[in-house]
Amino acid sequence: MDLEIKGKIALVTAASKGLGRASAEELSQAGCRVAICARTTAQVEATAREISAASGHEVLAFSADMSKEADINRLLDEVRGKLGDPEILVINAGGPPAGNYDNTPIEEYPKAIELTLMSGVRLTHGCLPAMRKAGWGRIVMISSISVKQPLPFLLLSNMARAGLTGFMKTVASEIAASGVTVNAVLPGSHLTDRIRSTAEKRAADEGRPLEDILAETASHIPMRRIGEPRELAALVAFLASGRSSFITGTSTVVDGGAYAGLM
Ligand code: NAP
Repeated sequence: MDLEIKGKIALVTAASKGLGRASAEELSQAGCRVAICARTTAQVEATAREISAASGHEVLAFSADMSKEADINRLLDEVRGKLGDPEILVINAGGPPAGNYDNTPIEEYPKAIELTLMSGVRLTHGCLPAMRKAGWGRIVMISSISVKQPLPFLLLSNMARAGLTGFMKTVASEIAASGVTVNAVLPGSHLTDRIRSTAEKRAADEGRPLEDILAETASHIPMRRIGEPRELAALVAFLASGRSSFITGTSTVVDGGAYAGLM
């Protein structure tokens, strides 16, 4: 399928690894001119080189922390200066720290809101005006299955992502006639560094082999396996494409059947 986005300018945030990287790879393979960012400069630059070498298309790397307003503004200025206004925006950020109600200090709440909710709001504010003016744009948010089914021990993530979903859905319908779509993808469990390091920590704490922990995670998924990052990225690329032109305001799980609700 031709995704009809050859030559489009795409910004994918938090994309030196994991789901962000896989999304940038798909967009680059589809012929987009891709900008990626992360906090660790050497890693994001290496990733940009690797993606570009595989796709044959330009990929630019930027250093930015999505929890900082000044970094987001600087990132958008730099991307505009080097590539132009993003026509595709994939919003991603590292998740807030794990914890439950009893062990989460109140000071952590605004930090989680900045990282997970306000980064999406700020990026949308930065990119939407040019998209509306052009009459075409795609915004895709990488969220989590937790907005359908809050996950134990991820209080901050559950809270902030629910807020981002409310923002996404409201903006999507307010601007639906403009040619700009706004959607969210909800990963279940995909084998990224984040999932692997959480499993490694559990393996060390419980004195069990890593394979046991990963197999246990997979056993709770109806497909009996953990997803690959590219299985989430394929949906990101479709929602970012010209082919998804009548889809907006949606939140779609990619989870091997893990979500147990009806809708
Ligand atoms: P990952 O493999 O750890 O990759 C995270 C990427 O984001 C890295 O490139 C990291 O680079 C960058 N990053 C982290 N914090 C950042 C910040 N403040 N500003 C800019 N870049 C930042 O993680 P992942 O598994 O792909 O997860 C991505 C998002 O999806 C997270 O919010 C996670 O909670 C969510 N999610 C993941 C899964 C899953 O199964 N993997 C499931 C549900 C939700 P630097 O560290 O250099 O900045």
